[in-house]
Amino acid sequence: MIRHWVEGKGVAVHLNAGVTRLAQRGAELHATLSTGTDIVADLVICAAGVKPCIGFLEGSGMKIERGIRVDARMRTNLPDVYAAGDVTEALDFHTGRPELNAIQPNAVDQARIAAHNMAGGNAESQGSLAINVLDTLGLISTSFGQWQGVGKEQGGSGVELVDEANGRYLSLQFRDDVLIGATSIGWTDHVGALRGLIQTQAPLGGWKDRLLADPTGFMAAYLGTAQKAA
Ligand SMILES: Cc1cc2nc3c(=O)[nH]c(=O)nc-3n(C[C@H](O)[C@H](O)[C@H](O)COP(=O)(O)OP(=O)(O)OC[C@H]3O[C@@H](n4cnc5c(N)ncnc54)[C@H](O)[C@@H]3O)c2cc1C
Repeated sequence: MIRHWVEGKGVAVHLNAGVTRLAQRGAELHATLSTGTDIVADLVICAAGVKPCIGFLEGSGMKIERGIRVDARMRTNLPDVYAAGDVTEALDFHTGRPELNAIQPNAVDQARIAAHNMAGGNAESQGSLAINVLDTLGLISTSFGQWQGVGKEQGGSGVELVDEANGRYLSLQFRDDVLIGATSIGWTDHVGALRGLIQTQAPLGGWKDRLLADPTGFMAAYLGTAQKAA
């Protein structure tokens, strides 16, 4: 849907096509793709994932995998050394396993917990949540938590609304009667309620069947469950 949206605005999309070569030919910059296509470019922007800049910690004894390993209190394996934010592989909200979830709300939450504990407190993180909010030439898409869902054997179920004609898409994923993940396209109103439902892990009870029948009612479900409980 996003592809059709940007193509409609004159943007060519090449999928499954890595850049194998960049070369200056005269005044032209040429990008060669793994598909063999050659593109003349004015500007090349590389945006390929997130990698913590932690080379300076080599030899420090700090436990590092893809990022600095921390526990729920943001403690590293070294005494009195804490870490927070993009440099960390903090414990994930859903899996409890170390993950790089390098976004601003997680960095803020982790920094608050690290600061509290460094000052003698005893704060624990609920775990970092995967959140993406993207504006693609005016088309807003979001994903929260375990947007890909979990298998039936883990109590997984889901519902998908596809309305390509109006540029709208919504997917809700549940474990038993708890919302664990969501994806949306073309939705701007109340999408924060999706995060709220996931993060509070509010049991949806009868609201789940209503959402399976009509996923657009997530705001009413939030008001009727998570916010009510709060
Ligand atoms: C292009 C882009 C778009 C993004 N969009 C979003 C978004 O829409 N929503 C969202 O939630 N997040 C977004 N993020 C991620 C967000 O910016 C980060 O999660 C957040 O800034 C992390 O905060 P931080 O303090 O951990 O790291 P940073 O903000 O990276 O701060 C780290 C600081 O440490 C400094 N530093 C590095 N090495 C050293 C050293 N050896 N000694 C001293 N200082 C050092 C750096 O210069 C930097 O100032 C985006 C990031 C990028 C790059």
